[in-house]
Amino acid sequence: MDLLRGDKMAAKFEFYNTLSRKVEEFVPREGKKVSMYTCGPTVYHYAHIGNIRTYIMQDVLIKSLMYAGYDVKRVMNITDVGHLSSDADTGEDKMLAGAKREHKTVMEVAKFYTDAFFKDFDAVGNKRPDVVEPATNCIPEFIHMIEVLLEKGFAYVAGGNVYFDTSKLDDYYVFSSAVEKEQLAVGVRDDVEEDTNKKNKTDFVLWFTKSKFEDQALKWDSPWGVGYPGWHIECSCISMKHLGEYIDIHCGGVDNIFPHHTNEIAQSESFLGHKWCNYWFHSNHLNDKSGKMSKSKGAVLTVSVLKEKGYDPLVYRLFCLNSHYRKPLEFSFDALDNVAAAYNKLVKRVAELKEDGPVDEAVKKEFEERFLEAVSGDLNTSMAVTILYDALKADTNDATKLYLVNSFDKVLSLDLAGHAAALSDGPDVDPELLAFIEDAIERRKEAKKAKDFAKADAIRDELMQKGVEIKDTREGVKWNLI
Ligand code: AMP
Ligand code: ZN
Repeated sequence: MDLLRGDKMAAKFEFYNTLSRKVEEFVPREGKKVSMYTCGPTVYHYAHIGNIRTYIMQDVLIKSLMYAGYDVKRVMNITDVGHLSSDADTGEDKMLAGAKREHKTVMEVAKFYTDAFFKDFDAVGNKRPDVVEPATNCIPEFIHMIEVLLEKGFAYVAGGNVYFDTSKLDDYYVFSSAVEKEQLAVGVRDDVEEDTNKKNKTDFVLWFTKSKFEDQALKWDSPWGVGYPGWHIECSCISMKHLGEYIDIHCGGVDNIFPHHTNEIAQSESFLGHKWCNYWFHSNHLNDKSGKMSKSKGAVLTVSVLKEKGYDPLVYRLFCLNSHYRKPLEFSFDALDNVAAAYNKLVKRVAELKEDGPVDEAVKKEFEERFLEAVSGDLNTSMAVTILYDALKADTNDATKLYLVNSFDKVLSLDLAGHAAALSDGPDVDPELLAFIEDAIERRKEAKKAKDFAKADAIRDELMQKGVEIKDTREGVKWNLI
């Protein structure tokens, strides 16, 4: 039976639900079927490694659910219109700014960065969503939802724009605790630039016609005049288009909680007249030393840049798996170097495993249960990695270890077996020469550590004389025969 299809359902699958503010048992609406919606990227610039952290943790959630026997359908949008530089409808249009910066059309910019996004998304071992839908594909759906919201009295037209009226809701701040709600009610976002059309400070735009941007590139006809949609409406509509009136899990980064997801709930539930999504999964940010990583900060550190610097993208995945999704994570190259060394050791360890007999069923069961317990316990990925190490050290045969490496890889997606096979497929080297090379590399490392660079160079020459060229990379010393 396919391991990802339900032969070992965990007793309980739990993760933190931002809506209830606690770790909760996950119970989908329909048996083992899970419908999931993920906020996709705004494609005006490269996705940085922080954005990719969010998508790695969502990938782990999906694959963990599959490992536990659930069948997941996932939908993702691509924001190619409507996202202003502030999440609260102010500032400049991100897509238009991208087009101006690069002297391209908005659609050229969208295509270029969508492709770049998926290149990095794939490189870190993520499974593609079942449906990916650009916002510009769904303008009629947006208009329909806005019309219904107007008819039901949840929206109003002012100054040419259509706004959602947050005062019509009993509970707008759905993600906040009672205390937070009180604080919010007192000082509602004083930082936000005043839009005098709004009846309430928290109201948000559903459709712009009175654009601040005379040169707005993408515009559509609508019952309220030529214009373009606000940002939040796309996720509600794209989700309903592909997943229907109910979803089990909605994902995003913590910055999406307010206002984006708060506004998605406001408009979706007002439109539908019932609760929309039961579980909200948010992962925390990746920061650099100066603070949160941000696309708008200029130079963007991407997975492709890491690759150019010599890091395997899966090393970055392992870096992310080593910490919990709900904690902020600080990025540094020193930390990544340590993970790269650990990753290489793991690959080497797996490359040494031989198919030496039947899989030990009892050991297999014990380890798979431990692994499932870790990932279904609020996605304890660092524990899952520890269990991988434990399996490699376990008192069992290689065949069982190999089996477990592949089993865990259905969630971890580190491709250890693939990388190990690539190692073993290397040149056929005489075992004596191999031993010499390994010893020389070790001796050279010691010499460098002791700052005896003359000795280190002499060892390099010694290797050269035997036809072996060495290269220092971020993942350690690499060698090849010349
Ligand atoms: P954006 O393209 O800006 O809409 O962001 C795409 C996804 O990345 C969203 O789900 C954000 O919540 C998430 N995100 C933004 N900044 C970070 C960060 N520094 N670390 C992790 N995730 C982030
Ligand atoms: Zn969204």
